[in-house]
Amino acid sequence: MSLYENTQKLINRAADTMELSEEVRKVVNEPERVLSVNFHIHRDDGKIQMVKGFRVQHNTLRGPAKGGVRFHPRVDMGEVKALAGWMTIKCAVVDIPYGGSKGGVEIDPRDLSEGELEQVTRQFTQAIAPIIGPRRDVPAPDVYTNAKIMNWIADEYHCVHPNEDDYLAVVTGKSLDNGGSLGRDSATAAGGVIVLESYLKKTGEELKGKTVAIQGFGNAGHHAARILAEKGAKIVAVTDSKGGIYVENGFDPMKAHSCKLEKGGIGECLTEAGSNGGEEKKISNEDILALECDILVLAALENQITEANVNAVKAKVVVELANGPITPEAHETLENKGTTVIPDILANAGGVTVSYYEWEQNLRHEKWTEEAVAEKLEKSQRQAFEDVDKVKDEFKTDYRNASYILALRRIESAFEEKHSGKAHGFSCMTE
Ligand code: NAD
Repeated sequence: MSLYENTQKLINRAADTMELSEEVRKVVNEPERVLSVNFHIHRDDGKIQMVKGFRVQHNTLRGPAKGGVRFHPRVDMGEVKALAGWMTIKCAVVDIPYGGSKGGVEIDPRDLSEGELEQVTRQFTQAIAPIIGPRRDVPAPDVYTNAKIMNWIADEYHCVHPNEDDYLAVVTGKSLDNGGSLGRDSATAAGGVIVLESYLKKTGEELKGKTVAIQGFGNAGHHAARILAEKGAKIVAVTDSKGGIYVENGFDPMKAHSCKLEKGGIGECLTEAGSNGGEEKKISNEDILALECDILVLAALENQITEANVNAVKAKVVVELANGPITPEAHETLENKGTTVIPDILANAGGVTVSYYEWEQNLRHEKWTEEAVAEKLEKSQRQAFEDVDKVKDEFKTDYRNASYILALRRIESAFEEKHSGKAHGFSCMTE
């Protein structure tokens, strides 16, 4: 099943449970706008290379479209459509006034020089400039894109629209000296930990002393490890794309992260992280999913837990910081065996929430402190958990389905408001 079919399956499962109207079901099953672009760059060796890119605006009933841009050699339209759909749902779960979108460029940025990367970014921005804008569609970083790339997008957009005073708000995830927000870097992980703590509180437990394994040790994964360790959890295992480490008595994730940056892979850091008495060994990405631990955090890629390996999962709680790391079928198996899954659209929504704060700061020409951002994020994620939890109890369902139901209810009321008998003049359809 493709990633897009997964998204539709999850939307339709919730739509069935809540008996969503047929009109809204149709609206959320198809993206509003799909743009496919082709452009060319000059490689440093003198050759011209064609590059393909995509921008999908899934839905804008609740506000401007919002979603990252992914640079990846295997990105395709289906994946971008799926990710755009998840953004619509995610923004509605945390009740921020955005719709959902996503972009992708079919390129491996690791093969490009800095100048080539800048050309790709600027050409792509030119190609999608007619449909993005501070109040239309606001990109952000995703896999293999970063603050520097976001700065180039803002700058190129300004070249195309020189009269747009609020041009910095066309993109979030910018660097701090170019309109970025304090607290954006760690927001995804921080938001996930807030939801996890809210869940544990509800079940009468706490983070202190819990053993945690984390798949993926990039932005989301390493900040999650740091925050969880600061709150007293015991980090026993982490992996990255090349493998990882298990240290029975726990280790300092920041020491391990410095070693990863130095040596290029966390798998090479057993000596630096371990040597504290218990069992210590190198592990693979399959091993980490099957570890005996209290909490498993998925912070790498899509489709990591599938029907093929789900029965090996032993953690009682699985937190999805990555988008779509568990297939719908594997999710059903986990729920049936009593594992609680904190779903992506709730767990990793801290990232887009602080992106929204960045956008607000840009539009109001303000700069908020890190404490103010953290406080707002904490309140927002706690509220989102409580809202989802109420729906979960109402429908006696799991957290994933409850999150979708909550989001679809909010999208349905925006749909109803839009079509609430207001007579549209046919000479001008804009609001
Ligand atoms: P990143 O590129 O910083 O880190 C990804 C990590 O995953 C790296 O450590 C990489 O080595 C590892 N990895 C790659 N393939 C792997 C594999 N097969 N097995 C184990 N590890 C593997 O990316 P990130 O920003 O941390 O994003 C991670 C996930 O979180 C993605 O699914 C992303 O869409 C999602 N996410 C991130 C944010 C954010 O703000 N960073 C927000 C929402 C969702």
